[in-house]
Amino acid sequence: AVSIRDLSMSYGDLEVLKGIDLDIARGTVTCVIGPSGSGKSTLLRCLNRLVEPKRGAIELDGESILSMKPESLRRRVGMVFQHFNLFPDHTALENVMLSLTKIKGMPKGEARRIAETRLAEVGLAGRKDHRPAGLSGGQQQRVAIARALAMDPEVVLFDEVTSALDPELVKGVLDLMASLGRQGMTMAVVTHEMGFARRVADQVVFMDEGRIVEAGPPQQIFDNPQSERLKRFLAEVL
Ligand code: ATP
Ligand code: MG
Repeated sequence: AVSIRDLSMSYGDLEVLKGIDLDIARGTVTCVIGPSGSGKSTLLRCLNRLVEPKRGAIELDGESILSMKPESLRRRVGMVFQHFNLFPDHTALENVMLSLTKIKGMPKGEARRIAETRLAEVGLAGRKDHRPAGLSGGQQQRVAIARALAMDPEVVLFDEVTSALDPELVKGVLDLMASLGRQGMTMAVVTHEMGFARRVADQVVFMDEGRIVEAGPPQQIFDNPQSERLKRFLAEVL
């Protein structure tokens, strides 16, 4: 489980997160929605310390992530980005293996076995020897997801992972994420896909201007929004 308390973060003078409190229970899916610039990506980036918060506490199963070793954090918190960030000169299999050999220090043979299993799970057994350029955007994103899962993380963060995909490739990736959620993966998902959030999330968090304005189960957020700000946002995106 993840627990965030009074989290604030600034880029220089610009305060981007203003006292975020959020709990993500083990085995649940939290979807984060909100307008552009509201701080969604920054919130995820704080969770794996791509940026350092100014104030507040983040705990992973009771342990402060701010005092964890970077390697330990990389292992325990997986992240998937909008632009897959794969190594272009390596095959799908090598891309997944690399995090295991480099971050976990795993021997190559074992890393290969795990990478092959994970690639098969995301439906890419037949494409494992292709480089990213030889894969569709959706396939590249599934390699990135397989890479994150290969570490056996306690929580996986997804930041608009379907935003850069051609429309016909979006569904495959969302279906994969929904299936991970059903398997009990703990996930924090920043998304513009309201249908996905409604269907898959246990908890939906609406952010605006660095604050959580409303949070709750999807039915409450989408069918019974309380704040004018959320009502307006939903009117724009639905
Ligand atoms: P989007 O939906 O467009 O991805 P977001 O909700 O993810 O938006 P963030 O990327 O977290 O928003 O950005 C929050 C604010 O912080 C914005 O005002 C943005 O301009 C600013 N910001 C983001 N990254 C940086 C940076 N590296 N340096 C300075 N300001 C930044
Ligand atoms: Mg963002």
